[in-house]
Order: sequence, then C-alpha cells, then structure tokens
Amino acid sequence: MKLPPGVTQKQFSSALAEFEQAVGKEWVFTSDEDVDLYRDAYSPFLHEAEERVASAAVAPSSTEEVQQIVRTANRYRIPLYAISTGKNLGYGGSAPAYSGCVVVDLKRMNRILEVNEANAFALVEPGVSYFDLYHHIRERNLKVWIDCPDPGWGSVLGNAIDRGGGYTSANYRNHFDSHCGMEMVLPNGDLLRTGMGAIPNAKTWQQYKSGCGPWIDGIFSQSNFGIVTKMGFWLMPQPEAYLRCTISLFHYRETSGRDAELSRERANHLGVPGHRLTAQRLSADRPDSAVN
Ligand SMILES: Cc1cc2nc3c(=O)[nH]c(=O)nc-3n(C[C@H](O)[C@H](O)[C@H](O)COP(=O)(O)OP(=O)(O)OC[C@H]3O[C@@H](n4cnc5c(N)ncnc54)[C@H](O)[C@@H]3O)c2cc1C
Repeated sequence: MKLPPGVTQKQFSSALAEFEQAVGKEWVFTSDEDVDLYRDAYSPFLHEAEERVASAAVAPSSTEEVQQIVRTANRYRIPLYAISTGKNLGYGGSAPAYSGCVVVDLKRMNRILEVNEANAFALVEPGVSYFDLYHHIRERNLKVWIDCPDPGWGSVLGNAIDRGGGYTSANYRNHFDSHCGMEMVLPNGDLLRTGMGAIPNAKTWQQYKSGCGPWIDGIFSQSNFGIVTKMGFWLMPQPEAYLRCTISLFHYRETSGRDAELSRERANHLGVPGHRLTAQRLSADRPDSAVN
C-alpha cells in the first residue's frame, strides 16, 4: 500500500478506521486488488515510478458522509481526489493527479433529484450518468432533451466540472456553462451552495444562476477546491421537429459559402443545433464540382 506523503502508517490506519466509521467498512478500499481499479490504464508512466497511484479509495453515499471524510482527511493531512464515475479515460481516468491521494469515489451518489419539464432543468448527484438521465427522461416521456457527449457512461456532473461538451447544443454552451447551481463540500468540511441555493428555502436554485453576490462557480471547475455533491443543469425543451442531415462536398473550398449560411441560421436560432462542418476530400480525382 502506498502511503500519502508525510503520513505515517499508524496515522493512515487511524484515518482509514474513521473513514470506515463514516461510510461502512465495505466502502473503504485498501487492498492492492481494489486500489488497482483506480489506476490509469492509459498512463504513459504505467508501472513506472512516476505513475500517479492512489493510497486507498472511499465511496460515500451522501453529502454528510463526504463532509465526514473531508474533516478526517484534514485532521490527518491526507490529500483527496474526487471522481464522479472516473471514466475520463485518456485524461487520467480515475487515477489521482497526485500520488498517495485517497480517491473519493462518488459513484454511489447516483440520484436524479429532479427533472423539471416545465422549467427544463435537472438536479443530479455526481454518480448519475448520461445514460441514467436519458432513461429517466424517456421512461417518463418528459419533453426535454439532454446534450450527450461521446461517452454516455460518463457522469453529467463530472463532465461539466471538466468543462466538457456534447453533440446537440455544443455551439451554444458547454456543459459547465449550462449548469445552474452547485453544492460542494469545501476543504474544511463546510457545505456551500451557489446561486439561489445559498438563500434558505429558495425554489429557484436551478433557474437563476446569478443568485446574490459574486459568482464563484467557476473556481470549482477543473480544480480541486471542493467536492461537488449536487449540480443543476438547464435542459433543452424538446422542439416540435428535428431533422438531422449531412452535406457532402468534394472540395474544402466549397465549405465556405455553406458554412456562412449555416452559421446565419444558427445565429438566428433557427436550428442547426449540432452543426459541425467536417470537410473531407472524398476523392482526389473527382471533378471540381459540388455535390449535395
Ligand atoms: C472515447 C472518449 C470520447 C470522449 N468524448 C467526449 C465528448 O464528446 N465530450 C466530452 O466533453 N468529453 C469526452 N470524453 C471525456 C470524458 O470521458 C467525459 O468528459 C466523461 O463524461 C467524464 O465524466 P466522468 O464522470 O468519467 O468524470 P471523472 O473522471 O469522474 O472526473 C473528471 C474530472 O473532474 C473531477 N471531478 C469529477 N467529479 C468531481 C466532483 N464531484 N467534485 C470535484 N471534482 C470532480 C475529477 O477529479 C476529474 O479531474 C471522452 C472520453 C473518451 C474516452
């Protein structure tokens, strides 16, 4: 077992015992077999001294448990690394950014707390994947759309924290831009809610992201300044009609006029939500003419 830097085996054992008290023994992982699951299989340093590996992992099921973990870690000076589903493959996966961290695996916190059709928003916990949200919406026949990135098995929250993007509304906003309201556990174990969530009993947490006072949400994206335990997202109201089409052109230069046309449509909000003009030369010896 790798120890967190500057922490003795005795201190680490005491901290692990406190983690077990907080989340239950079966949700604290210390065996090599279990901790190996948090390695980054795509690491250029795999099996080398520089590889970033966890010392242990802990899987809470609630915000209160996350707070207890953070307070214990603080007392023993143990670095933590949070993951939502840890499927950020190719960008580090579930491996910590710093060797010896205890990974806080939030997969068990997978509740879809609300999907509001009338106001087109959702409130989710970190372990909710795009597949989960999609099925939830389809099963209830709600008239809202999600904006799915490539991996449907990745989490809605984890993807947004990493400023990911999807295929339906990428031209308008990335997933961090489409969030409205966050809840996180700060490094001292305190709980912070942004936007209207900071106002007791406000019913508009997922509707008005500015709230009162400075907007601080940005410092929690691509950072490790807090463990995000809830996040609201604006969804898209289902349009009356949707048509997906592909335009194939022979020559790259033919894209310019059409690109301008499509951009105009987009600027007028007339549609073309997932417009991506990928110019590929189809064949070197085709005639110099456009085909649609
Ligand atoms: C083949 C392939 C295609 C991909 N295509 C896309 C794509 O189209 N669009 C796109 O945006 N991405 C894409 N990705 C990247 C990635 O897989 C997704 O962004 C994925 O949804 C990340 O979600 P996750 O739950 O696995 O994130 P995680 O790995 O859990 O977390 C991502 C990062 O955020 C931090 N983090 C996660 N949760 C929290 C939390 N609760 N509190 C604080 N910090 C947290 C983590 O420490 C980590 O640094 C792709 C990846 C692959 C392998």
